[in-house]
Formats: sequence, C-alpha cells, structure tokens
Amino acid sequence: MHTPAQREQLLFVISAPSGCGKTTLCREVLSSMPDLEFSISHTTRPPRAGETDGTNYFFISAEQFQEKLDCGEMAEWTEIYGNRYGTARRTIDELFSRGCDVLFDIDEPGARQLKGAYPNVVTVLVLPPSMETLRRRLIERGTEAGAALERRLQRAAQEIEAMRWYDFVVVNDTIPEAVDRLRSVIIAERCRRNRRSIEDLLA
Ligand code: 5GP
Repeated sequence: MHTPAQREQLLFVISAPSGCGKTTLCREVLSSMPDLEFSISHTTRPPRAGETDGTNYFFISAEQFQEKLDCGEMAEWTEIYGNRYGTARRTIDELFSRGCDVLFDIDEPGARQLKGAYPNVVTVLVLPPSMETLRRRLIERGTEAGAALERRLQRAAQEIEAMRWYDFVVVNDTIPEAVDRLRSVIIAERCRRNRRSIEDLLA
C-alpha cells in the first residue's frame, strides 16, 4: 500500500448546473473515501438556513473578499448572481500538507483557473440523464416556476456547453449509481498517477 503522500496529490473539480444533485453526490463520496477532503470556499453570499461558517463556506464581506484578491490569496474565483466565490491558496496548501487529495465544488471559470495554476487537476461534469429530467427535478424542488424556470434551464444548457472540455462526465440517474461512477473516477485517477510505486518497487 502507498500513502497519498507518496504520489502526486490530485485536485478533483466537480461542476454541474443546479438541480443535478452535485452537492449530495459530493457529500456521499467525501464520507466514503479516505484521504479526500472538501475545499471550503470563501463567499460573499449570505448563509442559507442550515449552513454554518467554516463547514459549508467561509462567509466573508465583499471588502474582505476584495482584500484577499488584492493580496493574491485566491487560487481561483468567480462571480455568480452578484456574489463572489473563491478558493484560498491556503485552503489547498493545508489539505495538501495533510496528505489529502482535494475535492472542489466550483464552477467552470474556477475550474479553468485551477487547471492553469496547478498540475493534476481532474475535472468532472455531473449531468442529468436528460434536460427533461432536469426540468422535472427543478419543478419538484419548487424554487422556480414559469419564466424563471425557463431561464434556469437555458442557463443550464449554456453551462453544460461551456464544460465540454471536462475530463469526465458522470450522469446522475440514481444517486447510488452516480456515487459509484464518481468514486470510480477518483480511484482510477489515483491509480494512474501512482507512478512512483514503479520506482519504489524496483529500487
Ligand atoms: P451556492 O450559492 O448554491 O452555494 O453555489 C453556487 C455555485 O457556486 C455552485 O455552482 C458552486 O459550484 C459555485 N462555487 C462555490 N464555491 C466556489 C468557489 O470557490 N469558486 C468557484 N469558481 N465557484 C464556486
């Protein structure tokens, strides 16, 4: 067996349009895989019910966020619906120093920035089985209807289009199957990058 510290550490970026079940998928995978930790982002968005500072996000003011940008503390960042979201370099450094691979729940512009800044970034796009299923799931969730729902679906299609370049696609038809697929991607990438074990074995 080789500990993660003996191979290159990996950054797994998981992106999806909203309504694809990405958050549930990430939670399930994180709770069942060793040496994989969630990158907690900083955001200027106010906390939602049930969210806690330092678990879901680090909730900071717009001024604090700008300061972090000015000081070059952010590895990547984005703006969505007027709120800023970003990953601090220090968050990644700390998880790496503990020997973990890191899982990011971030959008496509963020994925692009990470890919430019770090080696070993693996990108995974979570998709609904069909646009019709996505529509049904969004209706069931009940957060939007009518024109807002149509706008959300249109935006989803644009987001998917922008993520064509991702390394992997995980279709979320049922949660257990999708979790299996995402775990398989992580396991396979770990095996691929475990090249140092060749030298160790032959030494
Ligand atoms: P929400 O406000 O629903 O928690 O997140 C909205 C979107 O922001 C999600 O698609 C999520 O992937 C993205 N996001 C969350 N944190 C970050 C981050 O640190 N960087 C980037 N680029 N996107 C993020």
